Amino acid sequence: MFLLDQWKKVLNKLENELTAVNFDLWVNTLTPIQYANDELILMAPSVTAKNQVNQPAILDKITKCVHAEFTPYTFVRVTEAQEYQESIRRQETEIDRIMQETPNLKSKFNKKYTFENFVVGKSNQVVCAAMQSVAEHPSQKFNPLFIYGGVGLGKTHLLHAVGNYLNEHRPDLNVLYVTCEKFTNDYVDSIRNGKEKSNLDFRDKYRSVDVLMIDDIQFISNKMGIQEEFFHTFNDLYQNNKQIIIASDRSPKEMSALEERLRSRFSSGLIQDIQEPDYETKVAILNKKCSQEGYLVDKDVIDFIAQKTGTNIREMEGILSKVVFYASLQNKTHASMEDAHEALKDYGETEKTNLDAEKILNTVCDFFKVTKEDLIGKKKNKEIVEPRQLCIYLINDMLNIPLTAIGAMFGGRDHTTIMHARDKISNQVKVNPHIRTLVNDIRSQLLKY
Ligand code: ADP
Ligand code: MG
Repeated sequence: MFLLDQWKKVLNKLENELTAVNFDLWVNTLTPIQYANDELILMAPSVTAKNQVNQPAILDKITKCVHAEFTPYTFVRVTEAQEYQESIRRQETEIDRIMQETPNLKSKFNKKYTFENFVVGKSNQVVCAAMQSVAEHPSQKFNPLFIYGGVGLGKTHLLHAVGNYLNEHRPDLNVLYVTCEKFTNDYVDSIRNGKEKSNLDFRDKYRSVDVLMIDDIQFISNKMGIQEEFFHTFNDLYQNNKQIIIASDRSPKEMSALEERLRSRFSSGLIQDIQEPDYETKVAILNKKCSQEGYLVDKDVIDFIAQKTGTNIREMEGILSKVVFYASLQNKTHASMEDAHEALKDYGETEKTNLDAEKILNTVCDFFKVTKEDLIGKKKNKEIVEPRQLCIYLINDMLNIPLTAIGAMFGGRDHTTIMHARDKISNQVKVNPHIRTLVNDIRSQLLKY
């Protein structure tokens, strides 16, 4: 693919520039693992190799050739496996930190969380459109805008996207992003400090913003007058025609601790949910992530990850990084199915522990609105046969149950019949998008917890 081809060209040049020993022993063992934000990361197979390559005599030549092949300002970083993994971990904590910390009034936003980087699919198109229109016309469209949905579905990403957009297009506005926890802590601090002044600070801070975003509002507690304070903040901003955006993991209706007057304030604007991504969206997100991060991954690996993971996108991205990391450990340039199996080994185990054949049967019956008697019975009409075959396929694929035992579950069918059903679906999953979507939707439901 792209990165690899470019690197090959660099290697061709370097071969003439370096001594044979330096080239064969060190430079030729490097693997380009990432090219993003004008930085090329090369992975060395060992610390020794890394140190060798980092000598100016070698590194300068590499850099020169990279500048010719990539861009003249590309920064070349040589790393090795363990260090790389640690740096990924550090990046993750860094992102967490940025998301928690709130400098006065103007928040910083994670540069990766933009509208451009947000993949729009059936499950999130309405919510994304609402957020975009609020970003373009703050205080004019939906106020307040309340978005809700499960963990890892992109709520925080969208809030940051609004922030990034506003910081770029409306630098005149004070945009404040806080988690509910941060809001609470600020408030508690202002009381604890006791002084009149700190209380004023708190009010000044929150009531002088133009756009207030509160993430994870579900953690708002009814203790310590925090809802009371929030209510006043809310009213103040609202009356002054300031934009308020709120994210939650559940709808206002489902937030039992919420005071009625807050609930009704939320309802005065737009309340919009973000749903679980379907299979196609998951694939699109994975592909986007690969091109963003410069990951080289075989196509069937993407399908595999999208199929095997549940609906939490953060978790799915974690699996992808893990797959790429496993490949890099073996000094491979492309992540293959082998790496995917390895990375997903434990994932499957923990996910499947509370899954059994009974649950699969019931879920398939619910999904297709057929009875269990029919599903395991002898009827041969298409409305029954297809769910039956899908069910057999899923039981075989998700649980380690022998075909004969599955046969027994399905009214004493022969194991060859079971095998036939399984193979039929497993072939169709590959070629028929309709069947693939069905399988993945049921699978996501089963893996939900
Ligand atoms: P939430 O706040 O809903 O728990 P996040 O916004 O933290 O979820 O999203 C989790 C991860 O998934 C983030 O890395 C985010 O970038 C990514 N993500 C979620 N939805 C999308 C999407 N539609 N397109 C691209 N990335 C997404
Ligand atoms: Mg979040």
